Amino acid sequence: EDRALLEGGSESQDDQNQGPKAVGVLAVVGRPNVGKSTLVNRILGRRAAVVEDTPGVTRDRVSYEAEWAGTQFKLVDTGGWESDVEGIESAIASQAQVAVSLADAVILVVDGQVGLTASDERIVTMLRAAGKPVVLAVNKLDDRMADYTASEFWKLGLGEPYAISAMHGRGIGDLLDAALEQLSKAEKTSGFLTPEGLRRVALVGRPNVGKSSLLNQLAHEERAVVHDVAGTTRDPVDEVVQVDGEDWLFIDTAGIKRRLHKISGAEYYSSLRTQAAIERSELALILFDASQPIADQDLKVMSQAVDAGRAIVLVFNKWDLLDDFGRQRLERLWQTEFDRVTWAERVNLSAKTGWHTNRLAKAMRTALESWDKRIPTGKLNSFLGKVQAAHPHPLRGGKQPRILFATQASTRPPRFVIFATGFLEHGYRRYLERCLREEFGFEGTPIQISVHIRE
Ligand code: GDP
Ligand code: GDP
Repeated sequence: EDRALLEGGSESQDDQNQGPKAVGVLAVVGRPNVGKSTLVNRILGRRAAVVEDTPGVTRDRVSYEAEWAGTQFKLVDTGGWESDVEGIESAIASQAQVAVSLADAVILVVDGQVGLTASDERIVTMLRAAGKPVVLAVNKLDDRMADYTASEFWKLGLGEPYAISAMHGRGIGDLLDAALEQLSKAEKTSGFLTPEGLRRVALVGRPNVGKSSLLNQLAHEERAVVHDVAGTTRDPVDEVVQVDGEDWLFIDTAGIKRRLHKISGAEYYSSLRTQAAIERSELALILFDASQPIADQDLKVMSQAVDAGRAIVLVFNKWDLLDDFGRQRLERLWQTEFDRVTWAERVNLSAKTGWHTNRLAKAMRTALESWDKRIPTGKLNSFLGKVQAAHPHPLRGGKQPRILFATQASTRPPRFVIFATGFLEHGYRRYLERCLREEFGFEGTPIQISVHIRE
């Protein structure tokens, strides 16, 4: 059900079960400059011009919806880090790690013009340690004459090397067939490695807001700072933490504890990991540093969670540092910067002293209940009928769009489909959302409303 959400808007489909089937997440990894982004663009069917020749350009989108032969999947581009020689090894390690936490299967890209390098072999070692299925693409083989060079790469022990030219679109179809076959197999066997019944929580926020402090406070552990980056794929990725007598699965705690600051592309990687953690979670605990101004990065993390359709709880940490003036400043901020998430519960606490951390669990449970909630169709329609009678849609070109029927198509998060006789304005949709929230709760969860037009 989670994955179905990734499909994006389906304009004309009444039947929610139609459309391509979604099989999972495919990551493209490899050394800098082997052509990962070119390949990603090729698969997405975009023009190669999107590829930046400037090193160090941070691409802020990392995952995309893609489709091949009627199968839909998520494609993750792990490129985008600076290729300076010093940082290269740690960046490769991080990249492999991101791929592991994010993806169900991996395309490893190597450069057929350069040949096999030691870095390629190290990536293979890391991917193998993680046990993800890998398909090998030997890129930059721009004409058939060069294909024999691909055979050198059998040595990597990854099976058949696929000779491709991302730039010219050679060999991409066969590569994707192989990758999607791995992907569909992978999903059947792996899925989420979640202990049964535990709810999955992503603890997210920009660096220094207090994520590891909160984790330690909850787990009553000493802070664990891990310095070395190599070999990190072996770290426990998720941890069970008890909050208020209940076990929760905290996603990618290794990523919370690890300091990435020194490696090149650190910011990029932490944003990748945040996204990965959010995608694997059901609920995002979003931390802010209440003693600091709200930064763009804070709001970005929040948007990532809301756009991904996760239940959320907002946590204002370091409350112990605030005086009266600080508290007032924060209330003003709350009114202005957080108007997008007025439905979310906010917990003010101190990870350092433990003050109010006992309020977290209740907020988390409430948000997840809302996220799971289903409103029966009859109830929904009689309610919307009343709403519409009290407040009809404004006239548009002499006509009045009317709601004919509505149903809750899915939960996690709640998604409503409304059938109407005409286009419903943005303002009216917002109004409907407010009414739904007032009537049915939905505290702590985004809700989605899509409108289908029927004459
Ligand atoms: P990334 O760092 O792995 O994402 O690599 P890019 O996609 O940015 O590509 C690095 C360079 O290799 C760019 O100059 C591309 O134009 C070039 N390149 C990518 N694919 C091919 C290919 O199939 N053939 C050739 N000749 N060059 C390619
Ligand atoms: P992370 O990067 O989000 O994991 O943040 P850390 O947990 O490493 O915290 C960053 C800094 O903020 C550390 O120096 C912490 O001791 C400090 N800190 C975290 N939580 C609190 C808090 O509630 N109050 C105060 N005063 N300091 C805190």
